[in-house]
Amino acid sequence: MTSDDHRIETRAIHAGQEPDEETGALMTPIHANSTYVQDGPGEHRGYEYSRTGNPTRTDLEENLANLEGGEHGRAFSSGMGAINTVLNLLSAGDHVVTGEDVYGGTHRIFTQVYEEYDLEFSFVDMTDLDEIEAAMREETELLWLETPTNPLMSIVDVEGAAGIAHEHDVLCAIDNTFASPYLQRPLELGADVVCHSLTKYIGGHSDLVAGALITDSDELDERFGFYQNSVGATPGPFDCFLALRGTKTLPVRMDRHCENARRIATWLDDHAGVDRVFYPGLEAHPGHEIAAEQMDDFGGMLSFELDGTLEEASTLVSETEVFTLAESLGGVESLIEQPAPMTHAAIPREERVAAGLTDSLIRVSVGIEHVDDQIADLEQAIEAAVE
Ligand code: PLP
Repeated sequence: MTSDDHRIETRAIHAGQEPDEETGALMTPIHANSTYVQDGPGEHRGYEYSRTGNPTRTDLEENLANLEGGEHGRAFSSGMGAINTVLNLLSAGDHVVTGEDVYGGTHRIFTQVYEEYDLEFSFVDMTDLDEIEAAMREETELLWLETPTNPLMSIVDVEGAAGIAHEHDVLCAIDNTFASPYLQRPLELGADVVCHSLTKYIGGHSDLVAGALITDSDELDERFGFYQNSVGATPGPFDCFLALRGTKTLPVRMDRHCENARRIATWLDDHAGVDRVFYPGLEAHPGHEIAAEQMDDFGGMLSFELDGTLEEASTLVSETEVFTLAESLGGVESLIEQPAPMTHAAIPREERVAAGLTDSLIRVSVGIEHVDDQIADLEQAIEAAVE
């Protein structure tokens, strides 16, 4: 139905999916089965138990692998399930280099789960390749990247970072959740493993939690499959179906997310009540040039600092109507949140401010509503906050 020569818009709709052979059903059926009949002991027809494999999941995995330009995809019950599976590759005494501003849940599994198992983590400024190089040790086995980062939208040079990892014989894995494969394909830039929270842009409708790993390596894929089956953090067929439905519209949604975010970032940048805007699409953003090289567009996430106090910023995020006050991101609906008392509340204030996460910082997941309604909503909320 589709070939690798087709463009991503075509592959997003067709890759991994053929009409059902028996019934002609166009859409991948939701195979709500735990087990499968065997024609004789050990003679199964490709599937034996749904933790090990499920046809709806297979279609999703093939679709995601195709979109990332990779050979193999594996789906998990959450983005964290996918991240955990990469960490399953490591052993006590191994060392990991990662960013000081990685997603909070990733920071938590690193420090509160895997440090207990005697893994060591170095958190560095990943925008500086020299810092990555300096953090490498004899015991380093994994470089874990995220770009753009949350919530300051810092940009990591994926090709440069992967090059350093490989010089040291270290695996390079990247969380591509913020960009999605429509905007950034890290395997082409030298990464070994791409990780996703499908919960975000790929699902796209805030109605599922799932994750994925994509790689070109047969050996890594085999190990990921082993951990899928042995650890069991696999998604059910309903969630796989929803994620597959999401990928079909990923390109059109992302185009609108990017277009709206660019308009809003430019508008905020000119607003007298706003101190700073963090959006890689703005030329003044320190990562703009690298983002322009390694991404096809700049994404739908942005942050800004209100010229005001923590309380005024709290008023702003409580006053919006088109933007819903909520954590998470990547859905068709616009979300707004204030990192200081919400997503980053666990970080002591001094440390948080030193990392650039000021009290009045506001993060926005720009949805695909009409951009004029989004801007009017932000305008009235800013006025209400600082009046
Ligand atoms: N990676 C990033 C960048 C995220 O923002 C999140 C969740 O917010 C995750 C991973 C974890 O994904 P999930 O919530 O699907 O477990």
